[in-house]
Amino acid sequence: MIEIQINGKTCTCEPGEFLLKVAARNGIYIPTLCHHEGVGEQGCCRLCLAEVVERGRSRIVVSCVFPVEKPIEVYTDSERVRENRAVVLMLLKERAPESEEIARLCEEYQAIDGSRFKALDNEKCIMCGLCARACQSLGTGAIATVGRGTGKKVSTPYDEPSKDCVGCLSCARICPTGAIPYKQDEKERRIWDRSFTLVRCESCGEIIGTREELLLAAERGGREPDTLCASCRQKQMADVLAHTYGLE
Ligand code: SF4
Repeated sequence: MIEIQINGKTCTCEPGEFLLKVAARNGIYIPTLCHHEGVGEQGCCRLCLAEVVERGRSRIVVSCVFPVEKPIEVYTDSERVRENRAVVLMLLKERAPESEEIARLCEEYQAIDGSRFKALDNEKCIMCGLCARACQSLGTGAIATVGRGTGKKVSTPYDEPSKDCVGCLSCARICPTGAIPYKQDEKERRIWDRSFTLVRCESCGEIIGTREELLLAAERGGREPDTLCASCRQKQMADVLAHTYGLE
């Protein structure tokens, strides 16, 4: 175990544990856009900067990919961190001027001077790749980062509707800047230029997913596709148990 100080608070961690994780476990907030438990670290948005002081020397690190190997002092909101974070935010704002979340953070960190760079039109994506990693981790891999420079974007192969997409919305829900548009009405969901029929719970009528995502989950689980939502399934299970043990 290693003992470190974060903003004056003593925290313990395993050697090699990433600083962002140690801070979060100890209730210390460090802003981040591209980090999500379950889809790995990547240090892409670079918002989670922290100041690390070691033997009297200070440096700025990206906390989600900074492994703690020895006792250090860490400051997550020092003047130096705030200044660097403001610069990162200015760049992110140029990349994604339409993102409300980035606008909010810019205000919080007083990141206002973005005039050095030309803003991209109608753009919310900061190219963190979280959506593609989420899709990949589901085993669908329907979207990926393509292109270079300002032409870089997340898309389906050849910008065509992907047969691998099951319309699960994981990509849209995980996106920190709301950059992936989708539409949904009573019967249908539209995302990445494809339409998916929605399936409702046989008991309560709640939407439980698209036909394709239920089929995929069933195939992976080696069972029939769900016809009930999670709470109706639980209730059904409780009823069966009560009936079996004569508890009704
Ligand atoms: S909606 Fe399609 S692209 Fe998005 S995560 Fe689900 S399968 Fe992947």
